[in-house]
Amino acid sequence: MNILILGAGGREHALAWKIAASPLTEKLYCAPGNAGIAREATCVALDLADHAAVIAFCRSNRIDFVIVGPEAPLCAGIVDDLEASGIKAFGPSRAAARLEGSKGFTKDLSRKNGIPTAAYERFTAMAPAKAYLRAHGTPIVIKADGLAAGKGVVVAQDLAEAESAVDMMLGGGLGDAGGEIVIEEFLDGEEASFFALCDGATAIALTTAQDHKRAYDGDKGPNTGGMGAYSPAPNIDEAMSARVMRAIVEPTLKAMQAMGCPYKGVLYAGLMITADGPKLIEYNARFGDPETQVLMLRLKSDLVPALLASRDGMLKSFDLRWYDEPALTVVMAAKGYPGAYARGTVIEGLDAAGKVEGVEIFHAGTKAERGKILANGGRVLDVSAIGKTVREAQARAYEAVSRIRWSEGFCRHDIGWRAVEREKM
Ligand code: AMP
Repeated sequence: MNILILGAGGREHALAWKIAASPLTEKLYCAPGNAGIAREATCVALDLADHAAVIAFCRSNRIDFVIVGPEAPLCAGIVDDLEASGIKAFGPSRAAARLEGSKGFTKDLSRKNGIPTAAYERFTAMAPAKAYLRAHGTPIVIKADGLAAGKGVVVAQDLAEAESAVDMMLGGGLGDAGGEIVIEEFLDGEEASFFALCDGATAIALTTAQDHKRAYDGDKGPNTGGMGAYSPAPNIDEAMSARVMRAIVEPTLKAMQAMGCPYKGVLYAGLMITADGPKLIEYNARFGDPETQVLMLRLKSDLVPALLASRDGMLKSFDLRWYDEPALTVVMAAKGYPGAYARGTVIEGLDAAGKVEGVEIFHAGTKAERGKILANGGRVLDVSAIGKTVREAQARAYEAVSRIRWSEGFCRHDIGWRAVEREKM
């Protein structure tokens, strides 16, 4: 098959690495891609917001299957447009992608179908929102309804912080994304990311991961898109996984089907494992980033037939195999991220780093220029490794990091610390 991946980050590099290895793949393209992805696929400069241009490219290059990485094109209906043009595409329709695109939609669906989640209300006006804050007290969580590139959630510790989040969001600080907000109960527990592959009617559990959202060691500093991850999540055993499928994923699929917008694609559930069991924090309508990087290292089976089965509604008797070994990824970011940072700084030592046993380096934001690899984003590299234990995967990843010469970059030095602590017990 000729396959086109849409996206430009570490998630897409990991998908490209896995898909390039499939015997089903004839020619692999990625739009727009990056310098690392260019090793696995032919990169093409397409604007993903221009659906007509993507469709025209697919036609002239006889693309059989399109795999959509990021949420923005999904929420903009790229799968609907591709399918309407007779091109098979992996991912949810625009209506199904509301599970990520509207927090209020997901909260209402959860409430209606008895899916465990934080208690909440939806607001479009300041006065009732603030009255709700005062009635419920802190800590409390304020969320923009729409896509806000990771800036749409404030976990407020006191009333002043909560009120200023309401002012910021309803005052237009996040544009349209914050025109409506959800205010919800603070959940106490340990987080985990749970991934299921769905075909509209059936879901199969993939595996689990945990990520580190804060920028600095010790889980301190500002929130980011994710500074590292490891898989599996030690707080989700088989019984917990079955419970998440039964209580959260399956009722969601059933509800979406009943509403006439069956969910196909990867359903990524952000969970809080509380004293009362797993609760849904949010859904994403796509593979996680950087979780996909560790998932792909652990996936033994061919990914392409699984993605096709999701699109074709054929997951019922499908089975995916995983390596038992854990995997871990360390994100290297440009200094200043998640705030302002420089682009175009030179990265060296990648070949030596890639030679460490068990290591794969995925590029998240790079470009190649005159034979050099340059940083071209906030999150730039995902230095990933598999090992017999989380500790070994961690040691391998950091050995590779130490071989990378990039004075303008930084990373956390404690990715996986919780899992390593657990291994010692
Ligand atoms: P989200 O974008 O909804 O995943 O939220 C970003 C982060 O905010 C999550 O990963 C959690 O760490 C935190 N968060 C979101 N909702 C809650 C909640 N109800 N209780 C506690 N923490 C939350």
